[in-house]
Amino acid sequence: MKYLQGYPADTLAQVEKLLAEDRVADWLLQKYPQAHTVRTDRALFDYVQALKAEYLRSAEPLGKVLFDAKLHVVKNALGTHTTVSRVQGSKLKAKREIRVATLFKAVPDAFLRMITVHELAHLKERAHDKAFYNLCSHMEPRYRQLEFEVRVYLTHLDTAGARLWEPTVGVDADCGNGQRLWMPPQ
Ligand SMILES: [Zn+2]
Repeated sequence: MKYLQGYPADTLAQVEKLLAEDRVADWLLQKYPQAHTVRTDRALFDYVQALKAEYLRSAEPLGKVLFDAKLHVVKNALGTHTTVSRVQGSKLKAKREIRVATLFKAVPDAFLRMITVHELAHLKERAHDKAFYNLCSHMEPRYRQLEFEVRVYLTHLDTAGARLWEPTVGVDADCGNGQRLWMPPQ
């Protein structure tokens, strides 16, 4: 169970039991029946920006925010954060780029929130140390539980379990002034 290294033995035993009895899907779906509705990179930017504005207003501004299909497979990462520095006039401006693995397109809001909080916390804290996790928990009090649940879900997928949520379907409607409105299916 590579995604759950470092958790206590009794916790691992419980997860192993859930997996063996094929009950992970029920457990997660009961908690989180629905996927979030953040479907595009533009919507993801707004989602991340809203959390940043609430908790990390003074941190470097966000440049790009996007879903990245290659992340999980190639880099074995769920999210990444990089600083892109550009000279603007006489100043060096740093902007942050956050990438979220595409698998987070089809998860509950709580899981998207977990990975967002994680990558935003890296704007302030580089290492996965105590200060980092304190900041994560400040932004999302359920952070540790959510990270655990995400890891259980990844373990479920890794053991050939079916994907539990589908990306939300709907039609994009242009409301005339260039804004895209998301509309649920009829
Ligand atoms: Zn990290």
